Amino acid sequence: MSNYNPYEEVLRTLDMAAEMLGLSDDDYIQLKYPEREVKVSLPVKMDDGSIRVFEGYRVQHSGVRGPYKGGIRYHQNVDMDEIKALAMMMSLKCAVVDVPYGGGKGGVTVDATRLSTSEMERLTRRFATRLYPVIGPHIDIPAPDVNTNGEVMAWFMDTFSTLSGQLSPGVVTGKPVPVGGSVGRRDATGCGIMLMVREIAKKLNLNLKGARVAVQGAGNVGGTAATFLQREGCKILGLSDVSGAIYSEDGLDIEGVITFLRAKRGRTLADYSAPDVTRISNDELLSLNVDILIPAALENTITGKTAPGIKAKIIVEGANGPTTSEGDSILQQNGVTVVPDILANAGGVAVSYFEWIQNIQGVKWDEEKINERLENLMVKAFNDVWNTAQEAKTSLRMGAYMLAVDRIVTASKLRGIAY
Ligand code: NAD
Repeated sequence: MSNYNPYEEVLRTLDMAAEMLGLSDDDYIQLKYPEREVKVSLPVKMDDGSIRVFEGYRVQHSGVRGPYKGGIRYHQNVDMDEIKALAMMMSLKCAVVDVPYGGGKGGVTVDATRLSTSEMERLTRRFATRLYPVIGPHIDIPAPDVNTNGEVMAWFMDTFSTLSGQLSPGVVTGKPVPVGGSVGRRDATGCGIMLMVREIAKKLNLNLKGARVAVQGAGNVGGTAATFLQREGCKILGLSDVSGAIYSEDGLDIEGVITFLRAKRGRTLADYSAPDVTRISNDELLSLNVDILIPAALENTITGKTAPGIKAKIIVEGANGPTTSEGDSILQQNGVTVVPDILANAGGVAVSYFEWIQNIQGVKWDEEKINERLENLMVKAFNDVWNTAQEAKTSLRMGAYMLAVDRIVTASKLRGIAY
């Protein structure tokens, strides 16, 4: 869909949820406008000595329920509309899982796969410097997203701390454990997806032992979700990344594939081979004969064009915004149950919240405590969404939006408009 606009997609769902809640325009009009949009230019000295200027964005959508929270993405398609959409989704996501944050998102328009590690570092440090006036542990707290990771967060935190003159681990989450990160954070989004698969499978009486699964995206979210699902007894038949997809009728050796990919920066599935593994296209992956499909790459994947071919009866959205509204209507007509992004991939922000608590209180939690809290939080959010959807006789996506909008609007009304 060439005229796809991610921000308008989210606004459409927001309007529908507000209507179902019986809200007036005045009740929720603020949610349609991000509180702050920042655009910065980022001059970076490249390894060959030349200077390139990249464009960076940070959108602070809603601070009604707490400091802005949301990841930083490095990708060639990043633009203001994408970041605005993702920032709004973060406000909704934090409200669905009821963590005391608002929503934000940031990004740089850059093909990160073409940058050396030292260029990535200089770009990140420049971005942190430019955003310095508008972020902070109680203002706006970034985290990793597409093509960013713990290493990038460590540079970001170090630059912020240098500028502020005090060690500020709470300014970003998703840091490596030795510099204030939390155990369990790296795997949190993928682990949360597994928990959501488990909960929806219980509701729909699907046995996870031997359940057939396809996963789009082999990065932090997709790779980890596939690993956790395999441990639950699922058979991962297909996995894709930007280079294409791999398939095995007997189930892929996911731990082996992910270990291979993570061993060297820049490796893709195109470099992987194993007996009984064949190559298929990304579109073929989406239409595999599976029980569960996990889109965990980018937005605008399940569209009017690809949705009709989907055979999975359950979709758990690992990515943010993988399904367009047109794709969503087709899935509903075909009886596919979708666990929506703002619930399904909230495990990351949940453990980010735990990391931030540890940073600002100067305490350390062990993995058992993190995992137990993550599970409690995600299962409670699932049941809240499920019950909202059942009561309103609507989809889980609409249930999640209704729950989130109601929580934000309630907080907004209590605070009032100051001036
Ligand atoms: P990542 O950079 O670690 O991985 C992205 C993966 O998608 C890579 O394997 C990449 O090759 C693949 N990919 C890119 N384009 C593709 C295409 N056209 N077809 C198939 N695969 C493609 O990023 P990530 O952190 O795993 O994020 C993935 C999604 O999950 C994004 O939508 C992100 O916003 C969302 N998300 C991430 C987190 C987190 O904690 N990292 C939390 C919540 C949501």
